Amino acid sequence: MKDRKLLMIPGPIEFTPTVLQAMGLPTTSHVAGNFIEVFGQALVRLRDVFMCPDGQPFVLAGSGTLAMDTVAANLIEPGEKALVVNSGYFGDRYAAILERYGAVVTNLKALAVGDVPSLEAVERELQSGTYALMTITHVDTSTAVKTDVQNLAKLGRQYNVLVVVDGVCSIAGEELRQRDWGVDVALTASQKAIGVPPGLALVMAAPSAIAKFRARKSPVLNYYADWTEWLPVMQAYEARKPSYFGTPAVNLIWALNTSLEEVLREGMEPRFARHRRLAAAFKAGVEALGLRQLPVSSDKSANTLSALYYPEGVDATLVKGVLDAGVIIAGGLLPGVKEKYFRVGHMGAVTSADIISTLGAIELALKRTTYRFNAGDAVRAAQERLM
Ligand code: PMP
Repeated sequence: MKDRKLLMIPGPIEFTPTVLQAMGLPTTSHVAGNFIEVFGQALVRLRDVFMCPDGQPFVLAGSGTLAMDTVAANLIEPGEKALVVNSGYFGDRYAAILERYGAVVTNLKALAVGDVPSLEAVERELQSGTYALMTITHVDTSTAVKTDVQNLAKLGRQYNVLVVVDGVCSIAGEELRQRDWGVDVALTASQKAIGVPPGLALVMAAPSAIAKFRARKSPVLNYYADWTEWLPVMQAYEARKPSYFGTPAVNLIWALNTSLEEVLREGMEPRFARHRRLAAAFKAGVEALGLRQLPVSSDKSANTLSALYYPEGVDATLVKGVLDAGVIIAGGLLPGVKEKYFRVGHMGAVTSADIISTLGAIELALKRTTYRFNAGDAVRAAQERLM
């Protein structure tokens, strides 16, 4: 019997065999010709995945938090004002990071768990005319809430505020058109929808963001994250020239280039559509069981993961029950309510078979509780959507 479990948490996710094989290639020098070529290709491909043809990509060894950190370190000068459009746990994290670099932060929170601050509330803040930068969490992984980046970025443009999107749980899964939507910086991490094992921080800075960085009057208050060092390195790799500041994560970058090639072979539009279709099938399945989502409405519900309240009489032991049925899912994350819900990731290389298996495992685990439902309803509802 196979002892493999299906990994359905919201990152790290399951990776394709070709990506994992690329991880296992013999490590070369970071200035070897074959590695320079692969790194150069990956940088070019990132522009297509972020949909930002004139952007400057940065690939650093680190997690998504480093991507958030490097953006704040390079684009904030002490005393500048920043607005955090907060839809959960990762908005709080961005507020803390910005404050660390001396920003005066307004943490604009949603009125309820599962909601996002309204466009009107954001506009009221921006009307003060004092903000230098605004951050938006595209999908907050703690709540599975999706934010309307397109309209928020439009407001950012209107009030001349630099727009930073934390796309850690969205990019390469959720529709995000960085250039068309006027997003100055978008960032993500390798282990989510972009489909590479954990360890890479990925940032795309539009020319507007690079201009703000170049206009700094004070030094960047983080040695490792300083774009003064990394910008020439990224430009050199793209020009297929050797360069060095800190040793790049050679094997992860092999894997990144392989995954980006797979993402672009599928195509961004079909990929967005696949995520929408599989999310709709999964959500139809859990709703057929009577489970309620954290997001307050379907237009605010992410396509990359779902967050679901435990039904009456069921607690966090359900996560263990689902594990025993062969599928790894995640518990809650948002302080105050984290005991009340669980999360399921459905991004990256996820297939309809994964969705059906996960719903089947949830049904099996729920059957062992006091909760009553008709076995098979979740799988049937999802199948109907998929057909
Ligand atoms: N932002 C969001 C939206 C995330 O989901 C995460 C990770 N779950 C992070 C930031 C931080 O990324 P990491 O854990 O890779 O540091």
